[in-house]
Amino acid sequence: MERETLEFDVVFVGAGPANLSGALHLARLVKQNASLGDIEIAVIEKGSAVGSHILSGAVMDPKALRELIPDFEEQGAPLESPVKEDYFLYLTPKFALRSPITPPPLKNHGYYIVSLNRLTVWLGEKCEEAGVNIFPEFPGADLLYDENDRVLGVRTGDKGIDKEGKRKPNYEPGVDLRAKVTVLGEGPRGSLSKQLIERLGLDEGREPQVYSLGVKELWELPDDRYPTGRVTHTLGFPSDTATYGGGWIYGMQNRVLNIGYVTGLDYKDPLIDPHAEFQRYKTHPYIARLLEGGKMLRYGAKTVTAGGYFAIPRMYADGVLLAGDCAGLLNPQRLKGIHSAIKSGMLAAEVIYEALVAGDFSAKQLQRYEQVVKESWIIPELRKVRNFHSAFKHGRWPALINAGLQFVTGGRAWGIFDRDRSVAGHEEMKKLSNYGYRDDRLEQRYKDLRFDGKLTFNKVTDVYHAAVGHDEDQPAHLHVLDTNICSTRCAEEYGNPCQRFCPAAVYEMVEDGGNGNRRLQINFSNCVHCKTCDIMDPYQIINWVTPEGGGGPDYKGM
Ligand SMILES: Cc1cc2nc3c(=O)[nH]c(=O)nc-3n(C[C@H](O)[C@H](O)[C@H](O)COP(=O)(O)OP(=O)(O)OC[C@H]3O[C@@H](n4cnc5c(N)ncnc54)[C@H](O)[C@@H]3O)c2cc1C
Repeated sequence: MERETLEFDVVFVGAGPANLSGALHLARLVKQNASLGDIEIAVIEKGSAVGSHILSGAVMDPKALRELIPDFEEQGAPLESPVKEDYFLYLTPKFALRSPITPPPLKNHGYYIVSLNRLTVWLGEKCEEAGVNIFPEFPGADLLYDENDRVLGVRTGDKGIDKEGKRKPNYEPGVDLRAKVTVLGEGPRGSLSKQLIERLGLDEGREPQVYSLGVKELWELPDDRYPTGRVTHTLGFPSDTATYGGGWIYGMQNRVLNIGYVTGLDYKDPLIDPHAEFQRYKTHPYIARLLEGGKMLRYGAKTVTAGGYFAIPRMYADGVLLAGDCAGLLNPQRLKGIHSAIKSGMLAAEVIYEALVAGDFSAKQLQRYEQVVKESWIIPELRKVRNFHSAFKHGRWPALINAGLQFVTGGRAWGIFDRDRSVAGHEEMKKLSNYGYRDDRLEQRYKDLRFDGKLTFNKVTDVYHAAVGHDEDQPAHLHVLDTNICSTRCAEEYGNPCQRFCPAAVYEMVEDGGNGNRRLQINFSNCVHCKTCDIMDPYQIINWVTPEGGGGPDYKGM
């Protein structure tokens, strides 16, 4: 098969804040050095446009954006509002108790509420103005290596393959994009990053990465009951004390409310359904009152990394760097990663610039990236909260005491919770019988939850509001390596938790042959690319790979 090869100097995989900032910074740096000649920089993105797969909270700490574009406000960066007030609420099942003080990590004075989707589109425009080539609908499907495992670039996915794997009339083979340096900025659980980390053992000696899943809706309110610029964080209901979880409510412009709930993907109860947790969250009297008479506009779900400092893999190898969330640089205590993504992209650009000047793209040269990330504010910020998430293994209250202690001790946890995380999140899930359940009836956990189509929505309705689209005549991009396990061991031991942890109703156990047998049906066209299945499957037999370019959600305004 003939494949086109395109030569670039640097290819950035993923058009998120990390890589767009990196590409922009690099384009400016190389322009100042005529002796380098024309340096070709490309950014590829699997979504149909820059920003279409970007989902975040988001309250942005602007310090990195200010380093990249000092006058970003004057230049018209799309900002919803400066944060004007912070609320911290503890929710019991009936009451919302406002804390008289906002815990320091949740203070957002000087920060901005943004739609990260819009901010990313804006950064993409800045990149194009600076001469960066941006290719939407180009999923990075495989990394290209030489015989010594040096990364040579990326192969994009083929187009026009039908669901049987045969070529359709519109078949186009993927392109080989060769580069001196490839930067992976794929966000959490990147599919190429996962391959690379495994192949080169980049996580050797580090703790396994753990994740959380954020599920979010945008609502239009009928009046000004929730002011633009107010930021509320909540703890308590509906999470049980053994499960990591919390909610957010941000006031955007034009009476739009941004509301969401995050559930730790290291939960023990096999019946947990993060989408249902969020729907229950909205039934709390305080939240239900807030949303009364409003209209749900948009839905989305995406994972974040939560492992922090101890789970950062080696971020360089021959010809390749990892930036942003795919290197796990998000601060799990603040649930903030936009600033560190932008900063890591900029640092990657500076190290690549030095490599271009030196003409050396080996791991020896690129290891400087890890050094400059350590010397920047990224690593000190993460070190101060290094034991935050792992303490939740012991339940909510010990973890909160630990969070307070860490604040005083600069991250130490008195040896109680230090380096406590030795297993990946999916290993924490207990079998149904070990959790005291006899079967997988959801009502055992969500007995009061009804989907009324006004306040609460089922997954299919929500997915409609994520504007997801995939050509259905293509091979499923969710590879289940052994489907026999689904109808036998998994059904018995965990009650097929994929049906619950997936926030987009992709996985369904359906009748098979009418004799009581069931088989797994994969509704891949619903997939919102959150990667939860790849992370949380208890047998680790689900492999998320990139679908045909342009497929997936469309997170306008999210
Ligand atoms: C629900 C939620 C709430 C959050 N709240 C906040 C907050 O309030 N404040 C804050 O600072 N941070 C917040 N974050 C975290 C923040 O969004 C991330 O830290 C940040 O977006 C990371 O940027 P990134 O560039 O590393 O990755 P991403 O933003 O994930 O971007 C990665 C891009 O790469 C593309 N991509 C992935 N794989 C491929 C591939 N193989 N080929 C081509 N393209 C690919 C994706 O489609 C995507 O466009 C939140 C995140 C979530 C999910």
